[in-house]
Amino acid sequence: MDLVVIMRSTATRAQKDAVSERVNGLGLRAHTSEGEFRTMISAAGSKDITVVQQLEQLPGVDRVLAVTQPYRLASREFHETDTIIDVKGIRIGGPHVNVIAGPCAIESRELLFEVGQAVKDAGASILRGGAFKPRSSPYSFQGLGVEGLKLLKEAGDALNMPTITEVTDPRDVEVVAQYADIFQIGARNMQNFNLLLEVGKTDKAVFIKRGLAASITELLMSAEYVLSQGNHRVILCERGIRTFAEEVRFTLDVSAVPVIQERSHLPVFVDPSHAAGKRDLVPPLALAGVAAGAAGVIIEVHSCPEKAMCDGPQAVLPKRFKQLMDELRLAAQLAGNRVTAWGDDTGTQRKVESGGWMS
Ligand code: PEP
Ligand code: MN
Repeated sequence: MDLVVIMRSTATRAQKDAVSERVNGLGLRAHTSEGEFRTMISAAGSKDITVVQQLEQLPGVDRVLAVTQPYRLASREFHETDTIIDVKGIRIGGPHVNVIAGPCAIESRELLFEVGQAVKDAGASILRGGAFKPRSSPYSFQGLGVEGLKLLKEAGDALNMPTITEVTDPRDVEVVAQYADIFQIGARNMQNFNLLLEVGKTDKAVFIKRGLAASITELLMSAEYVLSQGNHRVILCERGIRTFAEEVRFTLDVSAVPVIQERSHLPVFVDPSHAAGKRDLVPPLALAGVAAGAAGVIIEVHSCPEKAMCDGPQAVLPKRFKQLMDELRLAAQLAGNRVTAWGDDTGTQRKVESGGWMS
């Protein structure tokens, strides 16, 4: 059983240091996570209940929690209610359902603006587009790099949409942060721990995709890397794992949605595009994810998929995407007390409980 000491928002530097010193004095290896609003000091296991009592009495301490999971800050034991993350006024997590959409890669200004406008009109709340593309082949299109980031920012500003893009290298974290609102950590980089530590030092939201062969515990430990650095704005994404099923590119593990929600307070998205690999399979998988209670979906859309430089076969056409948004609203209703960001006359009027642990 590990411990997390939650400091009061008014705690002073000296009080935080005193708690760390006491924890270390007990041989429990203190780790301080300085968040935007609160500081958490976590500690290795102790079975001694008097330790909890002693720490609780130190000046500046709000509460001391015992967590049984190895992911301390990501666990529901640490934070019972759903975390809600605000990105430029878009609320992610809790009852909110959001759709992230856009092309796989930023190929040109024209394409990004055309697809961006289409997904915005259909109700998507966040614009996606890859500038640094991790490709299986070194000979495939690798993305436009910083030029692509600039176009993404321009499109996001023009459409008034927050943006998400993948960062593949710790050395690019600074430049990506300059242009995008959410860092995407790709499936292949889920356990690039230096990258996770680097984005953890920023205050931008981080969208972590589950690795192709990673367990849910491993995904949550990756989230922990970011949280441990004081960046508490983490979103998780199930994007399909490798199985023996040959009909699809990857197998979407829909069960990951309720399982993660049981174990963690962090929002969990589903990526039907990369799981399916084929556009016709994207709508049913997206619906399954939202009906299972996902905080949203991330979908690749392209206006001319046969000419796409990356992931064309799985790109949905704008027209089908618009129709899917209507279907997703129904799936969100099935999932219970959900509010779709693209509005409907019942959902938006429901009372929404705020559960952000940052506030
Ligand atoms: C992507 O979103 O374009 C992507 C490469 O996804 P993944 O890391 O899940 O393969
Ligand atoms: Mn892609």
